[in-house]
Amino acid sequence: MIVCAQDPISQLENAIAEKVGPQRYKVWFKNATRFTFSNGYLRVGVPNLFIGGWIEAHFAETITEAAHQVTGHRPEICFSIDPALAKKMRKKQPDSQVAFAANNPEREARRQIRGGCVSPPRPRKGRLDNFVVGAPNRMAHAAARTVAEQPGVQYPPLFIHGGCGLGKTHLLQGIANQLKDSRPDLVCQYVTGEDFTNQFVYAVRGGNRDTFQRRHRNVDVLIIDDIHFFANKRATQEEFLHTYNAIDAAGKQVVMSSDAHPKMIGQLSDSLVTRFVSGMVVKVESPDPETRAEILRRKARRMSFAVPEPVVEFVSNGLRTNVRELEGALLRLLAYTQVSGEALTVEVAGRCLRDLIEQTVPVIKLSDIESIVAILFGLTPADLHTSRKTRTIALARGIAMYLARKHTDMSFPEIGRFMGNKDHTTVILACRRIQGLLDAEQDARWVTPTGERRRKITELMEELEEQLGKAGGSS
Ligand code: ADP
Ligand code: MG
Repeated sequence: MIVCAQDPISQLENAIAEKVGPQRYKVWFKNATRFTFSNGYLRVGVPNLFIGGWIEAHFAETITEAAHQVTGHRPEICFSIDPALAKKMRKKQPDSQVAFAANNPEREARRQIRGGCVSPPRPRKGRLDNFVVGAPNRMAHAAARTVAEQPGVQYPPLFIHGGCGLGKTHLLQGIANQLKDSRPDLVCQYVTGEDFTNQFVYAVRGGNRDTFQRRHRNVDVLIIDDIHFFANKRATQEEFLHTYNAIDAAGKQVVMSSDAHPKMIGQLSDSLVTRFVSGMVVKVESPDPETRAEILRRKARRMSFAVPEPVVEFVSNGLRTNVRELEGALLRLLAYTQVSGEALTVEVAGRCLRDLIEQTVPVIKLSDIESIVAILFGLTPADLHTSRKTRTIALARGIAMYLARKHTDMSFPEIGRFMGNKDHTTVILACRRIQGLLDAEQDARWVTPTGERRRKITELMEELEEQLGKAGGSS
């Protein structure tokens, strides 16, 4: 499916390795990515959403640069899940990824201090007028629109939550872009939870706390994406609480997004949770078939790709995952039809997307489960894949495995393989242990930086299942 001549993929991989250095390349790219060029796009296959998200957040610009070096133009990058890659990763690779992710804010801040700069913001493409509205996201879209039209009036604060790839970032960027166009007089600051953390660490180390506070507090609208990144970062939470209070007291607007409901973000301070739920909290659900079909039609139109209506229906019924996956499927169809010269029929689409349709559904659902469980325990999904066995990780991993077994069609070996190459007996034992706790209605106990936490496991499970049910993916 490679469109360019003479193995540009190896050239691209070499160029990336040169830019990011051998260690990062080994941790994040080797065995963990598969690149494909097609029609101006560069598709990056990744084993799971965590790695995709990490690469997108940290290396998107580097990859574009490397591709520019190799091909002479800057392709659009698109990520898609490639389950086969999970098997290819080295056994210890998830451990290195976790270590990297855990150390990142400080390390990143050090790098920025050395370089004397904070990395340039990436372009924000999301717009409210090209967001496809359907029943599952109507409320969130309407709230975003209201805020963009009259910031600070109706909903200070607005909190949008929902599963990965369902359009939260798109909506937040849409607010920022609309404000930039229609209200250039207002100061609108858009930042990710991770950038906020990095900039804060950088400011404290560099003695520039005042500048940091001015930048984030003297605004008309502060938009923070992926605020669950604050879980278990106490100093950042403390700082954000003051930021929040300052903006709120001035009658200005705060908009936030997260993969989970504020109450389900483990280790978020009670004062923050109380403030978050005092405003408008809306959820984006998984798109229904009609919304999926309309998203496909629009994306295809933008790519000038004629997709017959029966194929649109076939793909939107077969791929019930998130919107990012739909984009990946469309790119694959485009590349396939261009290379093979075949006309795009339902039969061709079925052949070309067979593995996605057969495999991605459960894999994506497991990603949703992992993400919700990880956020609750203040971990990253990759923590669940490691071989580390702290009480918190073991409990979180057990709960994720139990939920995967109960709510997906995956077998024990499949769950084990996806969750960091674990043996199927590990999964069986973990599920039994959780079932035992549930039957005995015992307390789940785990450790956080602020001490031991205890919750009745039946209640905990009910809340997680409610999140999952609402998080969709079960359509
Ligand atoms: P999230 O932040 O919830 O993980 P994103 O906003 O990054 O998800 O969405 C993933 C991709 O899907 C983006 O390219 C986004 O533009 C697209 N997308 C999601 N929902 C919609 C929608 N309703 N209409 C159009 N594009 C969408
Ligand atoms: Mg996002």
